[in-house]
Amino acid sequence: SKVLVTGANGFIAMWVVRDLLEHGYSVRGAVRSTKKGEHLRNYFASYTSKLETVVVEDITKEGAFDEAVKGVEAIAHMASPISVNYTRVEDVIDPAVKGTTGLLQSALKYGQSVKRIVYTSSTAAVRPETREFPTFTVFTEEDWNVRALEILKEQGDKTPAGTTYHASKTLAEQSARKFVKDHEHEISWDLTSLNPPLTLGPVIHDVTDPSSLGSSMRWFYDNIVDPVKSAELGNNSFMGTGGSWADVRDVATAHRLALETQEAGGERIIISGPWTPRQAFIDAANALEPTPKLSRPLPQGDPGSNYPAPHEYGATKSQRVLGLKYRSVMEMTRDTLLDFAARG
Ligand code: NDP
Repeated sequence: SKVLVTGANGFIAMWVVRDLLEHGYSVRGAVRSTKKGEHLRNYFASYTSKLETVVVEDITKEGAFDEAVKGVEAIAHMASPISVNYTRVEDVIDPAVKGTTGLLQSALKYGQSVKRIVYTSSTAAVRPETREFPTFTVFTEEDWNVRALEILKEQGDKTPAGTTYHASKTLAEQSARKFVKDHEHEISWDLTSLNPPLTLGPVIHDVTDPSSLGSSMRWFYDNIVDPVKSAELGNNSFMGTGGSWADVRDVATAHRLALETQEAGGERIIISGPWTPRQAFIDAANALEPTPKLSRPLPQGDPGSNYPAPHEYGATKSQRVLGLKYRSVMEMTRDTLLDFAARG
């Protein structure tokens, strides 16, 4: 069967497309321009009969996905602004929210063959916008980051960029759920949202140099690979002491499993490994044998130092409902550094 993947040229989406193709699916990848689809078509050249690309220039336009949804059995929706420069918060919120509800509207009108839609939300829509919690907390699918929405309302265009992104994901996921509720008697499909945290791992999308890495892999590169930047950042940066993360290949598998698993319909599912200290990634990188041949020595940090997890994401549902297994820090770090080494 055929799956529409939006934002198909992105970091996570490329792995979703790859996993789907490897499991016999056909894929229609939606991208913003013909040029954006070039790498996708080249990378999957051996699957030409199974992969088509469609251009959806502006996902906020009414009816933008009307053509793209026709004849597919499932949709994985990943197109959403992440680390973009913007002046007005609407530039982030609109594509996230209207891009999602518009897609659902198109699926309602023209997606008669659609059975399931998977929306890639985020733990950004789960964990409330407060840096420090007084006590260790385990966040679950019951939690919503409504605090980000309050801040957005209070501060408008002055809202910090991170919070704007978190609000965009929360609003988009809420809007999607509301759409399904409002149209439950008219739709042939159901909706599953997946909520991954910082997603890391080997990169197969179009990246030419570290500066073109997406936001999550930029964190990895700056902290775990670049010795100068890593020392500069220390434990003071965004996610300075560490964070919850998932391997991009596991996140991709979760998308396929969410499409295939009947009981996943209607669910909200956190996809996350344990909270991991920044130093644990650095130590894993330094413990690799043989050492990946990178152009500079790896950062050392403060070897063996530890930080207690300030919070965790309860991810048992992903194991129970999807049967998902998670790769280790060591495996993710090894494969990522081997990939970087191969690129020189
Ligand atoms: P990428 O930046 O690699 O990919 C984002 C995709 O969305 C690209 O195809 C991009 O297109 C498209 N996109 C961005 N802005 C717009 C817009 N205004 N209109 C149309 N398309 C747009 O990101 P990731 O692969 O990391 O993220 C994919 C999804 O996963 C997103 O929804 C993100 O919120 C979510 N996510 C990511 C996490 C992470 O750590 N990376 C964690 C949790 C969730 P183009 O290339 O043309 O800009």
